[in-house]
Amino acid sequence: MENTNNLSPSERRLEPWRDELRKNIKTKERSAMERVRMPELDPEYRSHNNEEVNLGLTPEQAMKEAQRCLDCANPGCMSGCPVGVNIPTFIKYIEKGEFLKAASALKETSALPSVCGRVCPQEKQCEALCIHVKAKKEPVAIGYLERFAADYERESGQISVPEIARPNGIKIAVVGSGPAGLSFAGDMAKLGYDVTVFEALHEIGGVLKYGIPEFRLPNDIVDVEIDILKKMSVKFVNNCIVGKTISYEDLHEEGFEGIFVASGAGLPNFMNIPGENLVGVMSSNEYLTRVNLMDAANPESDTPVLIGKKVAVIGGGNTAMDSVRTARRLGAERSMIVYRRSEDEMPARIEEVKHAKEEGVEFLTLHNPVEYIGDEKGRVRQMRLQKMTLGEPDASGRRRPVPMEGAVEIIDVDEVIVSVGVSPNPLIPATFKGLEVSKWGTIIVDESTMRSALPDVYAGGDIVRGGATVILAMGDGRKAAAAMHRMKKLTRGESNRR
Ligand SMILES: Cc1cc2nc3c(=O)[nH]c(=O)nc-3n(C[C@H](O)[C@H](O)[C@H](O)COP(=O)(O)OP(=O)(O)OC[C@H]3O[C@@H](n4cnc5c(N)ncnc54)[C@H](O)[C@@H]3O)c2cc1C
Repeated sequence: MENTNNLSPSERRLEPWRDELRKNIKTKERSAMERVRMPELDPEYRSHNNEEVNLGLTPEQAMKEAQRCLDCANPGCMSGCPVGVNIPTFIKYIEKGEFLKAASALKETSALPSVCGRVCPQEKQCEALCIHVKAKKEPVAIGYLERFAADYERESGQISVPEIARPNGIKIAVVGSGPAGLSFAGDMAKLGYDVTVFEALHEIGGVLKYGIPEFRLPNDIVDVEIDILKKMSVKFVNNCIVGKTISYEDLHEEGFEGIFVASGAGLPNFMNIPGENLVGVMSSNEYLTRVNLMDAANPESDTPVLIGKKVAVIGGGNTAMDSVRTARRLGAERSMIVYRRSEDEMPARIEEVKHAKEEGVEFLTLHNPVEYIGDEKGRVRQMRLQKMTLGEPDASGRRRPVPMEGAVEIIDVDEVIVSVGVSPNPLIPATFKGLEVSKWGTIIVDESTMRSALPDVYAGGDIVRGGATVILAMGDGRKAAAAMHRMKKLTRGESNRR
């Protein structure tokens, strides 16, 4: 059978079966179809356990949804995907019922399709550019379909491993095993490099493991995608802090000829308001890492986390939603999001906000904490909230929150989780002498190649962008792999000529 993997997107569109699909259902009929709804667990039931909330589409639902794709000549969806997934092709395979081929098409460009199908902000990327949106209709559910194809392959047990080129003997090191590092590692392994990923923590996966909770992204699903990389000969070394356990110079001595830094942004920001040092006030990073990786919700564990009954989470991003929904699952009777702008400006995925509301989370929008008040034992008991209104747009393009004079209220709390952004992990910028670093602590790179001021060091993901998204981190990993490969070919070619 013909191997379609080497065809370009436009060549693929010429495949005869796609014309057949088009003839069978006319564009008008496809356009008139309603978007599928994701089956999910009942909110009351799920808010007391860690089971995955979204249940995934059935094959019938997926094939029906795939029929909504118009297979556009110039697919806008693809230009909205930072890793360049061939979206129309994988969707057309689903429409035909060829689910394993759909999964293979995804893996051509994405090392983590089950992850992306669950956590990508599709509404701001591929789905935002779907042709249906122009006609004021709901976009094709690209994320749901991506998840379906990847899950189908995993559950079928017929997991394909992407082909890798003949080993070229060149050793490459990756610092950090989050989505940027994993995506880079996958692409470099496909090109025949000898890739080793060094990870500071005991678990591989970065935020996918220590940040995003099980009810949104089960760890065993991440592990299956990591196993595929292992089968592609990628090596993983955990509990190894580059810059401490092993230095930049050690990596050179061990023969690594290129380094990709993907060390993320795990340093929590605080607001520097009175009371932030009280017992019961902590960052989302601490809270989620302890619960997700250290079993801290278990009172028998070595370092149990405080279990609040009146929990306020400060912030409006995905991390805030994950924290507040975790608090609810751990038994909070009142769980609140406190956000200084309105819901329209919230950076969290729309689905996370919807799920949080369904699970009983209260949204105190246009409120900003100005002080936490403790008891005589130094434990947080109340918070003072300033009511806000919205002014003119600021540099981020969002309307600036402005305090309403005299409008302050006090609310009882016994736990506060601060989720107001993160800063880059500082160790690599501090220990790789010669790196250029911005005033925010991010590594400065050439955006077209992700190459840093140190010629053998490339960087991507949150260590370059500050807190961003999984798919942007993965896109950086792909870009860096392509550029490092071009550079290696060039330098090897030159040394062969000498
Ligand atoms: C709770 C939470 C929820 C989120 N939800 C979403 C979401 O729904 N959708 C979305 O798109 N994005 C989401 N994000 C953001 C997204 O997860 C990040 O943008 C993404 O993980 C960044 O990837 P990365 O590979 O750059 O870094 P990370 O995932 O942070 O991985 C970096 C890794 O490097 C390791 N490391 C650091 N320093 C060293 C060192 N010196 N030596 C060795 N290893 C080191 C760290 O331990 C870590 O494992 C969320 C973030 C959080 C915190």
